[in-house]
Amino acid sequence: MRCKQSLIYEAFLQHQQLGGRKKVPVVLGTHLTKAFLRTHRARQHATAILVVDLEAAFYKVVRPLALSGYWDDELSACMTARLNLPADTLHALHNNLQQPGATLTAGMDARSRRALQAVHTDTFFQVSSQEDRTQTHLGTRPGDAYADVVFGYLMARILHKCQDQLSQLQVLSEIPDMESPVLFGRAGHQRPSPVPFVGPVWMDDLALCLWGQTTDAVVAKLGVATGVLLDLFREHAMSPNLSRGKTELILTPKGATKQEAKRRIAIANACFNRHRRLVFQNQQLPLDKRIDLFQSLVMSKLSYAMETWKLQDWQTREYVHAAIMRLYRRLLKAAQMSEQACWGLLNQDQAWLDLVQDDLVWMWHQLANTSALGDPAQHFERWLEIMAKAGPTFLFESTQCGACLKEYVTDGKMKTHLIRSTPCRTYLLSHGGRYHPAPGLGSSEDQQRHIEHDNKLPPLQALGPVLPPPRQRDLNLVHWDMHDAIVESALTLEAEDDFRLA
Ligand SMILES: [Zn+2]
Repeated sequence: MRCKQSLIYEAFLQHQQLGGRKKVPVVLGTHLTKAFLRTHRARQHATAILVVDLEAAFYKVVRPLALSGYWDDELSACMTARLNLPADTLHALHNNLQQPGATLTAGMDARSRRALQAVHTDTFFQVSSQEDRTQTHLGTRPGDAYADVVFGYLMARILHKCQDQLSQLQVLSEIPDMESPVLFGRAGHQRPSPVPFVGPVWMDDLALCLWGQTTDAVVAKLGVATGVLLDLFREHAMSPNLSRGKTELILTPKGATKQEAKRRIAIANACFNRHRRLVFQNQQLPLDKRIDLFQSLVMSKLSYAMETWKLQDWQTREYVHAAIMRLYRRLLKAAQMSEQACWGLLNQDQAWLDLVQDDLVWMWHQLANTSALGDPAQHFERWLEIMAKAGPTFLFESTQCGACLKEYVTDGKMKTHLIRSTPCRTYLLSHGGRYHPAPGLGSSEDQQRHIEHDNKLPPLQALGPVLPPPRQRDLNLVHWDMHDAIVESALTLEAEDDFRLA
C-alpha cells in the first residue's frame, strides 16, 4: 500500500512537509530553518520561528478527516469530552467532518480509499495479562505500520488550509522556486512564481517561519499566524501542547545576531567540564580511551549539524578554531604529548580539518590574484613554510596612526590610541599593514621624544587619502589562557573552604 500510493501521497503533501517523503534526510528541516534565519538576518529583517508540539498526535487522529468514512455523533460527544474541545471548536470540527477526507481530495481512487478505510475499521488492542480487548476509533496507533501516512494526509489537509489563510492575510513567507543548488557560479533556473513557505514540517513537528521589515511587523504577523494555526489544529481535534519546553518561540529582533557556533561550543565545554575529573583528565584511564570518549561525547556535541553552520565573519572562525584547540589542550593537559602525537589526534578530527581546509581555500581565493602562491590543495608544502615563518603583526612603525592619520608624537601615545580605538585597530588589521618592529614604549628613543615633545605638542590631525572601509576583523580581546586557568581552578575547588584558601 505504501509503495503503490506514494506518488499520490507525496503530491498531496504540503511543499515543506518533509517527513515520509522518499530520500529526505531528517536534518533538512533544521537546515531550512537556519537558512531562513540567515537569509533574513543578512537582509536586516526581524524573524520569528514558532515551533509547535502536538500532544500525542498519532493517538488523536480523527480518522474520517484523513480517510473519509463513517463517524457518528455519539463518538463525537465522547471524544470532545476526552479532548476538552471548546464548543466553537466542536462546531468547526463538525463542519470539517462533512467535507471530503484528505485521501479523496488527494485524488486517490475509490478502491484504494476503501481499502484504507477497511484497514482502519474495528481496530483493537489487547494488554498481554488481560483477557478483554479494547476497540479503538481514534488515532492511527498502536500497531499500525501505516500510521505516519494517515497522519501525513491529515497534517497536509491542515497545512494547505493554513497556507491559504496566511496567504489571504498577507503574513505568509515565500521563497524562490528553484530545482538545483547554485554552487561555483553555476547559473540556476528560477521559475516565475515563488513557493509559499509555511516552514519545515516533520510528521507532527512544525516550525512556522515568519519575517518582517521591523520587529513590530514580525510580532504583528506572529499574532495573526499563531491564531490561525492553533485554531486550525483544534478544529481538526489536535491539541497543541502549550506547556513549557514544548511549543516554543524564537524571536530574533531586527539587527540581532545569534550565533549557533557559540552555542554549540558552550554545550561542548559544559560536557567536558561535567566529565573532566572522572574521564578526560583522569590519569588512570589510558589516553586512547579518553580520546575515544572525547570524540564521541564532546566533539559530537560541538559538530552537531556543523554542515549547516555558516561562519559569517573572521572573528567567529577564529573563535571556533580557538575553542576547539582549547578543548584539545585541556584533554592533553596532563598527557605530556609531543607535537607530532598531537597532530595525529587532530588529524582524526574531520570536522576541524574541514574547517581549516575551508579557511585556507578561502584565504587563497582572497590572495589568488595578488600573489604567486598556488592553490593550497596542490601546493601545501609552500603554505606550511609561510605559516611557520609568519611572526606577529606590527600595526605601526611611526608615531602617526595609519587609519585616522593623527600624529601622536610618541610611541606610547600611539600604542594607547590603538588599544582604545576599535575603528582604527580594525582598519589597520583589515588592510593587512605589516611593519618591521620599531623601538617602542620604554625605549630610549621614545623616552627622548617624550622629553622633547610630550605635553608641549597636542596630537595633530593630518589629512590625506584613506583606503575604503574594510571587512571587519579584530584582535582577540579575550585572554583565553587566563579564562581557562580560572575555570580549571574553580572546577577543582569543591568546598567553600577551598575557595577561601585559593
Ligand atoms: Zn587612529
